[in-house]
Amino acid sequence: MKDRILVVANRLPVAIQVTERSFHFQPSPGGLASALSALNDSYELQWIGWPGEVDLSMIQPEIISSELKKEYNATAVFLTRRQLNRYYFGFSNRVLWPVLHYLPTHIDYDEKDYRVYREVNRVFADRIVQELREGRTDDIVWVHDYQLMLVPSMVREQIPEARIGFFLHTPFPSSEMFRALPYREELLKGLLGANLIGFQTHSGLRHFRSSLLHILGIDSEINRIEREDHSVQIGAFPISVDPKKIDASMSEPDFEEDLRIVRQIKKGRKMILSVDRLDYTKGIPERLSAYKKFLERNPEKAAEVVLVQVAVPSRTKIPDYRHLKDQVEVIVMDIVETHETLPDSPIQFMYRSLPFRRLAAFYQEADVALVTPYFDGMNLVAKEYVSVKKDHGVLILSELAGAASELGEAIIINPWNRDQISDALETALELGQDECTRRMSAMYERVCRNNVHYWSRSFLDDLIRSAEEFADRRSPVTMLTVARRQQLKEEFAASKERLLLLDYDGTLAELQTLPLAAAPDQELRDIMERLVALPDTSVAIVTGRKRQEIQDWMGRYPVIISAEHGLWIRMVDGDWDRQIPDSQEIEWLQAVEDIFEQFNLKTPGSFTEKKEAALAWHYRLSDPTFGKWQARELVMHLKNVLSGARLDVLDGKAVVEVRVQGVHKGNIIPYLQMQGKSFDFYLAAGDDTTDEHLFQAIPEGGWTIKIGAGYTHAHHRLNGVRDFRSLLKFICEFNP
Ligand code: UDP
Repeated sequence: MKDRILVVANRLPVAIQVTERSFHFQPSPGGLASALSALNDSYELQWIGWPGEVDLSMIQPEIISSELKKEYNATAVFLTRRQLNRYYFGFSNRVLWPVLHYLPTHIDYDEKDYRVYREVNRVFADRIVQELREGRTDDIVWVHDYQLMLVPSMVREQIPEARIGFFLHTPFPSSEMFRALPYREELLKGLLGANLIGFQTHSGLRHFRSSLLHILGIDSEINRIEREDHSVQIGAFPISVDPKKIDASMSEPDFEEDLRIVRQIKKGRKMILSVDRLDYTKGIPERLSAYKKFLERNPEKAAEVVLVQVAVPSRTKIPDYRHLKDQVEVIVMDIVETHETLPDSPIQFMYRSLPFRRLAAFYQEADVALVTPYFDGMNLVAKEYVSVKKDHGVLILSELAGAASELGEAIIINPWNRDQISDALETALELGQDECTRRMSAMYERVCRNNVHYWSRSFLDDLIRSAEEFADRRSPVTMLTVARRQQLKEEFAASKERLLLLDYDGTLAELQTLPLAAAPDQELRDIMERLVALPDTSVAIVTGRKRQEIQDWMGRYPVIISAEHGLWIRMVDGDWDRQIPDSQEIEWLQAVEDIFEQFNLKTPGSFTEKKEAALAWHYRLSDPTFGKWQARELVMHLKNVLSGARLDVLDGKAVVEVRVQGVHKGNIIPYLQMQGKSFDFYLAAGDDTTDEHLFQAIPEGGWTIKIGAGYTHAHHRLNGVRDFRSLLKFICEFNP
């Protein structure tokens, strides 16, 4: 049996048409269904989505559902008119759509719309969960687009092990723009339920990461985000077209008839073609005004060229779209009237949707394609044009369309600059045949290689891989549940010589912006009093802090202290013991300090902390994105400069630290052995990457606890300082 993919999208690839007493289905060709068609060979595709407006008073939903399932393997999510208006026409298209396309002036926000958006996302999620429960657990869920951003987390909450992918077809805007969204936190968290989140371009991916950092304070790596209970893979997957299918439609016998009709419009002139949904993101008014300018500058061309603008009616219920139509018609009329003395108008405005074969005939006949969206996730029209033309024709393309990152040989323009568009038209119409061929063939080759099947396969492969990795990682790290805590306490009670190794910041005390603000509070002091009173139990504080600082705070208790990430160790009431010989370090310290100083100058808010034999560059007071970016530069630079030196460069939480190799938090374990200590119970807890050394040094069978999110070698996890303190209190209840 084939594995099943649940393809979840706002619209099903089929619409229902209800006549008086019956109904029939009308498949909607193109779009997602053809984009995923290559997966049909290896997978069973089951669709979940809205089937279009259906008057349920005329027909029973159960009947439609069972027919849909039988004929199209589709599950209908019926929506009421209220739900549709608020979720789809409301929040999705009047808030999310303009924000995702950087056009906030089109936002029209009604709070109730978001509530219904959430409600409908819940309806979708529940349908998915129902299908998963009834189906097989190894099903794959692939959620599409901005209408369903909350769905991944809503599914994950109910089925933690589900394999979920999310692909955003629109752009993802800069965090400055995304911040404007009400409920932006919830939307981002909604996406983070997925195993893989795909974007059209790398810049979308970059913006998403920066939004996570600015809005949720979540740090990410270039291709992944570590969460408490799973890691989320992120990637850029530019969607594309199917060149073979396009060729096939042009080989159909009726294609000649389509060409004939197009030639009647062309009338032997040079044809410039624009094809868009009539959407305010597509840059149509600016483009038509640029064409008007072009004709004014080149009056002799008015009789030699024609601009065909195909505008597909779209979202006509929304006032901004109706207004756009009026606006466009005014410009078209203006051009028509200016040239009314000519036998044929230099502009043809077609407000309708064309079947693909007719569209292909337009592409074939077009000397120039003029594609100038203000912002566009990808723009398939550009790729279809390339696919049809193969080695001739000229593409003028907006730099703000996702497609521009792949179609660099096009004449790239800024869609807001009419002069530039007009210049581009002049260039395009004059471009020599060889140059056209050179540019177009290069683009054609790329579109063929990165075709839509490549898109769907690569997304799916990555999704499966990330879900596998997720499953691998889930098993060793488990939350320290009440039952596990009980077991811990029993092992504690049954042992004879115990060792508790406790990191300080982020583990015993909350992280603070200013390090000195993290001094022990009353609760922590009480816990320490009780811990050190436990019989046969050694407590070690294992910190990155300077020894004097930690000594001041913890020195009053009979504890072992390891400071500066293992550089200094002090037994209870003993002297500080240095872990490296007293040599060499002054020279390198000076070199590193100079480098840090350069980064301090160019990174506002950053500062250097001098430890006795280590240096730390802190950037927690800097702009988080910029700070992280600078840190990455710094780490790379240090690794170059210090290669060969016996130094470790540590990339921690808002800090980069340089210190001598082999000196780390884990070295306390062999040190204690050398002091003749042995234990039969170990508990180690920490929150940062520096604590990983400690976890790795703990003998088999010891308890290792990661505090907070992130990948770890620890076996258990707790959410934060509060939970860890409560665990310590629980241990303190031990009474032999
Ligand atoms: N399209 C069509 N008939 C038309 C106009 C457009 O079939 O009359 C198709 C076109 O072939 C393309 C899609 O609509 O595949 C438009 O996709 P694009 O990415 O350019 O824009 P979107 O509408 O998704 O924003």
